[in-house]
Amino acid sequence: MQRVLLTVILTGITGWATGCGSEQAVRRSGAEKPLMTGGETRFLEDSSGRWAVHDVNRPAPPVVTPFAQAGKAPSDAIVLFDGTDLSQWTDQHGGPAKWVVKADYMEAVRDSGPVKTKQRFGSCQLHLEFATPSQVKGRSQGRGNSGVFLQDTYEVQVLDSYDNATYPDGQCAALYGRSVPLVNVCAKPGEWQSYDIIFHRPLFDGDRVTRKATFTVLQNGVLVQDHVVLSGGTGWRGSNAISNYEAHEDKLPISLQDHGNPLRYRNIWIRELED
Ligand code: MG
Repeated sequence: MQRVLLTVILTGITGWATGCGSEQAVRRSGAEKPLMTGGETRFLEDSSGRWAVHDVNRPAPPVVTPFAQAGKAPSDAIVLFDGTDLSQWTDQHGGPAKWVVKADYMEAVRDSGPVKTKQRFGSCQLHLEFATPSQVKGRSQGRGNSGVFLQDTYEVQVLDSYDNATYPDGQCAALYGRSVPLVNVCAKPGEWQSYDIIFHRPLFDGDRVTRKATFTVLQNGVLVQDHVVLSGGTGWRGSNAISNYEAHEDKLPISLQDHGNPLRYRNIWIRELED
């Protein structure tokens, strides 16, 4: 009997304390009352303020028209290459891009250097498609090598890793030298493949990195990098060495690497993300 009484008292105290919290939560500054009746009104907190659960006053997200065909851009994306020309791209010195456009794709030209977007980006969602050469030449890092560089700095490796052994942190879909992909989901040489990359840029305070970059990558629709925190830079510094973070601007170009192999790219689009 005493235990039952104690339970009732404790329940009452807890309920009173919870009620106080709800009272505070209800006081949204200047906000309308939620169009809710009956039952307990619960409030959530987000970056824009406080909104009731199922609150119809809460702003709806923007409407985006999805692609008309798989691989094509949604309505709010910036199209960086639609198969027509390289007007959105430069060479590494800011001059005209020296890669060639054939059919609906661009192709790397040996010794021409990388191509870079004219526009600069920070955190983003990037889609592109690539094909390694159908004619297989070389081995390991010498076979179908290119790369997608976020902020002209952080490389998602592109390599012909179909039946081609190399060091795992440098195979296709690796964050070069930093993170091995979860699986090898490479298509055969010459076949079109896709990358969907969600990238959040690093933040710096002076020379010090205060928030490291993160990558989520899908290759051919399969998760290969799962919200990976990039531990440092991806620049090659020797057979067993890799670069560190070095402070840089908030926005920089996307670049595609010329590693001497005729890689092909098409359907490149990007959506800028909040940091
Ligand atoms: Mg590469």
